[in-house]
Amino acid sequence: MTTAPHPFRAIIVGGGPVGLTAAHAFYRAGIDFVVLERQNEIAVPEARGAGIGVMPNTLRLMAQLGLLEAVEAIGTHMRPGTVVTSDGKPFSGLDTDAWCREFHGIGWVIVHRPELMKLLYDTLPDEIKQRLLPGKEVDMIETTEDGVMVRCTDGSVEKGSIVVGADGVHSKVRDCMRRIALQESPKAAVNEEKPFVATYRCVFGHTVNPPSGINPGEEWHMHGSGMSSLLLAGKEKTWFVFSQKLPKPTRDRRRYTEQDTESFIKELGHVHCTSTVTLDDLYQARTSCYLTDLHEGLIQHFHHGRIVLVGDAVSKQTYTTGQGWNTGVQDVVVLTNKLRSMMENETNPDAPISKCKIEAAFSAYQKDRNPVVQQAVKASMVMTRTEAWNRWYDWFSDRHVLPRTGGLKMLYRAFLVPANTSAQVLEFLEEKNRPSGTIPWLHGSKKE
Ligand SMILES: Cc1cc2nc3c(=O)[nH]c(=O)nc-3n(C[C@H](O)[C@H](O)[C@H](O)COP(=O)(O)OP(=O)(O)OC[C@H]3O[C@@H](n4cnc5c(N)ncnc54)[C@H](O)[C@@H]3O)c2cc1C
Repeated sequence: MTTAPHPFRAIIVGGGPVGLTAAHAFYRAGIDFVVLERQNEIAVPEARGAGIGVMPNTLRLMAQLGLLEAVEAIGTHMRPGTVVTSDGKPFSGLDTDAWCREFHGIGWVIVHRPELMKLLYDTLPDEIKQRLLPGKEVDMIETTEDGVMVRCTDGSVEKGSIVVGADGVHSKVRDCMRRIALQESPKAAVNEEKPFVATYRCVFGHTVNPPSGINPGEEWHMHGSGMSSLLLAGKEKTWFVFSQKLPKPTRDRRRYTEQDTESFIKELGHVHCTSTVTLDDLYQARTSCYLTDLHEGLIQHFHHGRIVLVGDAVSKQTYTTGQGWNTGVQDVVVLTNKLRSMMENETNPDAPISKCKIEAAFSAYQKDRNPVVQQAVKASMVMTRTEAWNRWYDWFSDRHVLPRTGGLKMLYRAFLVPANTSAQVLEFLEEKNRPSGTIPWLHGSKKE
């Protein structure tokens, strides 16, 4: 680990998968930080049971952090997958793990989100773990020329040089950033108050004892009119997501109840998720199952003053392309590189880094990330609508053209490969044994 001499401290708000990644990256960059998490525990052992796909770009970072083997150990690689209609008839296939190996020289793995978070937490050194503070819900942020002051609902205050908002889709930090910008100038260009739109909702969950006939490594998709589903069978758990188009898009934050979930299952439980297993079979076998809206979109302003946003606070994609967390990881990587080079270029090691230099680093971060995230959000929107047969030509191409032309691989190549190949790594850490496939990576470590 390198250490930075400058009096510079980051306050990371949110100890979710992106906040924990930021803890690793900042620690390795020698950036002083604290993480404030509103939950009473960091990396809650059995939290909401979604599966998270760890894509080739993130596996490269995991290798740099020395975590690749540990991630592979809790993950499962998928075998070739089958796409069925809502009554269970197979009509198409895909093999994304093999495609990733071909394009990038490394596949992808599905992991249980709570296990991933536990791994990220457990692998931080003990003295760094002490910088992760649970039970700290951020309520207010004040910024000055010299620094930031973050107030929590328990009355405690943290002082630092910058705030990094890793607090998810309904980000409080994003709200504070907007308020501060408007206080400074009522005409300031700011993000919308509710920047993301949900056009679909989904039930997602997992089963520890999957319905019979489902084996580890199986991947099933269902594509239908106004709905789609995904089932991924891991070594010990099976994850499922079933989405449905909403009657009308909403920007609101809706909290669904257990009864809402049951109504959803009553309406759609008969629909097949594999050729033999229905949504109701999965629901009956569930260990966890939740109903949520699937917000989509990208904010215009990633930063203001001393505040910067990463992860779901910046962009929201549906699960269809499996890029949500991976996009947040890339936000963290690029931000860390920019902050570290800002600190290295500071000529006076004893002086606090000026607001102007911080803003320049944030601006460089947004400049790098904006086009890549825009493309990732677009890819997820296209994929979501294609598989839910949003228009007649989505149905026609998905049901009849793509299966006959090998088009799904082309679609994957066009829409998802760029998110991987354009990925950055921590440029100040070595990258040994970089995987290589038929499409070159655009960026590498500067320490090779
Ligand atoms: C069904 C489903 C499947 C998915 N599949 C994939 C996939 O395959 N691949 C993938 O990459 N992504 C996937 N995602 C998306 C992925 O889960 C998210 O992109 C990721 O969790 C975002 O992480 P985050 O840390 O930015 O936000 P979050 O996970 O929302 O974490 C935010 C954290 O901030 C804390 N917080 C919030 N407000 C405050 C506050 N005021 N003060 C302090 N702390 C606060 C929260 O408690 C939380 O711990 C999926 C999502 C769903 C719903």
